[in-house]
Amino acid sequence: MLDFAIIGGGPAGLTAGLYSTRGGLQNVTMFEKGLPGGQITQSSEIENYPGQIEVVTGLELMDKWPEQCKRFGLKHDMNEVLQVTKSNDVFTLTLGNHEKVEAKSVLIATGSVPKPANIKGEAEFFGKGVSTCATCDGFFYKGKDVAVIGGGDTAVEEAIFLANICKTVYIIHRRDKFRASPHEVEKMNKHKNIIQILENNTNEIIGDTTGVTGLIIEDKKTNEQKTLDVLGVFVFVGRDVLNAPLKQDDGSFLCDMNESGEVIVNLNMNTSVKGLFAAGDIRIDAPKQVVCASGDGAIAGIQAISYLQ
Ligand code: FAD
Ligand code: NAP
Repeated sequence: MLDFAIIGGGPAGLTAGLYSTRGGLQNVTMFEKGLPGGQITQSSEIENYPGQIEVVTGLELMDKWPEQCKRFGLKHDMNEVLQVTKSNDVFTLTLGNHEKVEAKSVLIATGSVPKPANIKGEAEFFGKGVSTCATCDGFFYKGKDVAVIGGGDTAVEEAIFLANICKTVYIIHRRDKFRASPHEVEKMNKHKNIIQILENNTNEIIGDTTGVTGLIIEDKKTNEQKTLDVLGVFVFVGRDVLNAPLKQDDGSFLCDMNESGEVIVNLNMNTSVKGLFAAGDIRIDAPKQVVCASGDGAIAGIQAISYLQ
């Protein structure tokens, strides 16, 4: 029986692991289906993590976090958690290898995954020219033309990253104004090889047996359609929270959520179920920042100790 089971090894889960073990809990396991570090490991440039003056990649920022947690006794199980249930004050986690693990308290810190834009051709060419990670796939398009779809911080930041590798980067946004912070937009404006196409929808991603060859965009004001010849299309249109482990056999969810599937918590990261905490991007009103996810994780770790006492 675990004292505390942490689901997800991003900034929230790792920090909860650090605070709970360093605060005295002996039997804490963090379940992570991939490599620890979370979604930030896909980012090419972090410049807003406090105290981190040099601009670093997400991988660099997260590099030492797991090692620091291990020093205080956090165990790491490289397994996906498929489901969490609760009966008689005991939580049961069903793992990807179909083993079951029991725990007295649980943190869900599974974060989020990229949302599809639901454009024709997007699913067909995913991995064959369509990508959601510039750090991972940008290099394949060295000296070539690519497109970025979206207008938030991720789209703008990753367009800048791609501009340093690719010949031309078209950024296509459906509105007349970027959602990204003015600071990022200002930085993007300095790149002559980023062509900003505003108030345009992307109707279709086209290609052949070799992969993506272009995309068809439509001017929202004139309805005029145009084909852009690009070999790569990077889709950054927001993210969906990963709440699947909370789904019960009858289709209901273990705890209360809002209409977007984000877990409702109070300031102590308590969910509507005693002993179940949620932290980071999965919770309601998350600012979606590493420092905030980490702060949530610290609160959840401290609160798990109080709960078990
Ligand atoms: P995540 O980082 O998403 O971690 C969740 C972890 O849970 C993942 O490792 C996942 O594999 C694991 N997991 C999911 N489901 C399961 C399961 N069922 N079983 C086991 N493991 C599971 N923030 C900033 O502060 N500054 C930035 O510059 C910045 N840039 C960004 C750039 C990009 C491209 C992206 C995508 C995000 C950026 N962010 C940035 C946002 C930041 O990355 C997130 O707010 C933060 O990572 C959220 O942390 P988290 O721990 O809640 O979730
Ligand atoms: P986001 O802020 O939700 O932006 C998504 C963008 O995609 C919006 O511009 C949206 O358009 C557009 N969009 C949504 N659905 C679309 C569709 N079907 N077709 C075309 N366009 C579509 O998502 P994000 O950029 O991934 O950022 C997520 C969170 O992480 C944010 O809170 C962000 O601040 C944070 N983040 C922070 C940093 C940083 O601090 N440096 C970096 C990256 C991310 P509309 O504008 O019209 O809605």
